[in-house]
Amino acid sequence: MKLEPPTNIVVECPKCKEETLHTVIKGKMYHKQDITLDALVNCGECKHTHQIKLTEPGPIEVPVIVSDQERSIKLSQELDPTEKVEIGDEMQVEDLFVKVTAIECGPKRVNSAMPKDIDTLWVMRYDRIVVKVSGNHRARTVSGKVFAPPEEEFTIGDMVRIGKYDILVHTIKLRRGKKRMGSAMAKDVVRLYGKIIKSKGRR
Ligand SMILES: [Zn+2]
Repeated sequence: MKLEPPTNIVVECPKCKEETLHTVIKGKMYHKQDITLDALVNCGECKHTHQIKLTEPGPIEVPVIVSDQERSIKLSQELDPTEKVEIGDEMQVEDLFVKVTAIECGPKRVNSAMPKDIDTLWVMRYDRIVVKVSGNHRARTVSGKVFAPPEEEFTIGDMVRIGKYDILVHTIKLRRGKKRMGSAMAKDVVRLYGKIIKSKGRR
């Protein structure tokens, strides 16, 4: 597979004898097992032009089992060979946003591993998470939950529907502290607090 070479790269300059930023004048980059860059580069320090050939280990493909409600789907994911995977890591597998729940290395399950040691990665679909909501009006309090994508933003002043109640969000409780203005992503929200504006239906 042919790849687009980078425009800049840090490599050792034979003249400066140290690693400097180089401009890639022209070159080819391809991906087989490894990723290879064959290019003519120009040192940003001394302007020396020279040819380089670099080889880096390519991504490692790991089988992934995605659990999504009651079913599970078998997919695979390319991982950076230099990056450790840990339980709780978030990643995107195809178009699914997931969280790592187990890492299988041979007969064992571990808390973290390098991609080359992983036999199977177990992940949980994480597209929609539960956001807890409490609303009140005088002595009445209602609590409930809404489902939202982890990256969805909730903003003070948003209207959230819990059952037959519309709740105007006035406080966002986060893992650390709370917000009375601005917004926060669903995955960071501990609870939304608001005021019951009106109840529809039964009167
Ligand atoms: Zn140089």
